[in-house]
Amino acid sequence: MSDTPVIGVLALQGDVREHLVALAAADAVARPVRRPDELAGLDGLVVPGGESTTISKLAVLFGVMDPLRARVRDGMPVYGTCAGMILLADKILDPRSGQETIGGIDMIVRRNAFGRQNESFEAALDVKGVAGDPVEGVFIRAPWVESVGADAEVLAEHDGHIVAVRQGNALATSFHPELTGDHRVHALFVDMVRADRTAESL
Ligand code: GLN
Repeated sequence: MSDTPVIGVLALQGDVREHLVALAAADAVARPVRRPDELAGLDGLVVPGGESTTISKLAVLFGVMDPLRARVRDGMPVYGTCAGMILLADKILDPRSGQETIGGIDMIVRRNAFGRQNESFEAALDVKGVAGDPVEGVFIRAPWVESVGADAEVLAEHDGHIVAVRQGNALATSFHPELTGDHRVHALFVDMVRADRTAESL
């Protein structure tokens, strides 16, 4: 087994390229994933930002939604940013019609909670597990997390709202570390993937 983890980026819609670049910078082999057979051989998966209803509908259309749910249930490490966070939530407070999630984190998210596209903003965040300076959080029509279950750990808050959560091998952020050139959150995820591989090979 090579030392470098292979991490897919769900490439149906959204900022796929930026995640591929950030993952490569965090020492992973990164590849786009669209079809169910492309899930084979992955050590982890990123669900990008974009539009969560569109990604959800395309995932069903491409036949990848159920296999994805199965892999996540099985413990494959996953990281969702923004729309990706919504897709990893077990429950959406205000889903659009036909909107489904992959699930994996016992949390309830509110879509577009921080306002519209033109109310996008940046904020310095202390993120548990990320050492050093605060992380510059880019929020674009971002969701926040209304509440988390007992097994989910809150990693960051902004203005009293939960914006980063981890539950086991699943990580989610309301913001977009893939857009800033600071790859520490991706490095945190790559570490989760490495730890999972080590645990599996014992
Ligand atoms: N508001 C979008 C949604 O509901 C998410 C925005 C984003 O990913 N930047 O999916």
